[in-house]
Amino acid sequence: MPARPLIDLHAHSTASDGTLGPAELVRAAADAGLDVVAITDHDTTAGWAAAVDALPAGLGLVRGAELSCRWQGAQPALPLHLLAYLFDPEHPELVAELARVRRAREARGERIVELLRADGIDVSWPEIMAAADGGTVGRPHIAAALIRTGLVATTTEAFGPQWLGQRYRLPKEDIDVFRAVALVRAAGGVPVFAHPRASRRGRIVPDSLIAELAAAGLAGLEADHEDHTPAEAAHVRGLAADLGLLVTGSSDFHGSHKTVRLGAHTTAPEAYERIVAASSGVTGVASG
Ligand code: AMP
Ligand code: FE
Ligand code: FE
Ligand code: ZN
Repeated sequence: MPARPLIDLHAHSTASDGTLGPAELVRAAADAGLDVVAITDHDTTAGWAAAVDALPAGLGLVRGAELSCRWQGAQPALPLHLLAYLFDPEHPELVAELARVRRAREARGERIVELLRADGIDVSWPEIMAAADGGTVGRPHIAAALIRTGLVATTTEAFGPQWLGQRYRLPKEDIDVFRAVALVRAAGGVPVFAHPRASRRGRIVPDSLIAELAAAGLAGLEADHEDHTPAEAAHVRGLAADLGLLVTGSSDFHGSHKTVRLGAHTTAPEAYERIVAASSGVTGVASG
């Protein structure tokens, strides 16, 4: 690897709400000049095998996932995302929890579509499921259906308060975040809190929760992310330093579902080495 490798530890494929297949994703990562990329689809490891098979020479692949979690300490419970790296994809309890969350996402997506249809909006759940093509279904898939109706022009508009951001937003049955941290560690993986201060996405958790999670096994915080202002990223870095957590930066690439490009934010090699060292090694970094 070069002296300052380019490392992007958060990217989605069609195994969830990205628009590039896992094979296309790793090729795009190489084309973008990355040395290491992580595949982190929502609540699934379904894209791992195809990404490994297509891995271009010289690219490292961190197999991961982004777990849909919630913190019960707020009223109503607060949703948050936990990146999990290099865990055993066959750990029975984790596998069961991910399957449960994916089923709950389908039930919730269908209910959102029912609400839209009750208001005369012509979106179809079978069509949305067909478009998701077996990937973890989420609001971006419903956003794409709204764009097809012509009622909104962009994903960003579809996430506005009058659409999926508020009026037609329903909660998911996410994993309790303390259970998620424990399960990821039990599976030999490394948990990192994704975009913890992204206030533009909605409510954010208090720093006291992050301190509790650090004591419970959280390894790191994602600081550099397009949904953080420079001040928010700086706050996250300060918190990580106080709590002894590692810091990452990543694009959270979703293909054409978002405008951000691969490598738009990157992780320092020292933090990456800490992640690799903290994993049990059952799932190592794959190399092309
Ligand atoms: P869900 O997991 O179904 O609740 O949908 C959340 C996903 O929607 C996130 O993982 C992002 O990929 C995407 N998302 C959330 N907010 C926005 C936004 N404002 N614009 C575009 N995509 C968004
Ligand atoms: Fe997403
Ligand atoms: Fe996320
Ligand atoms: Zn993500």
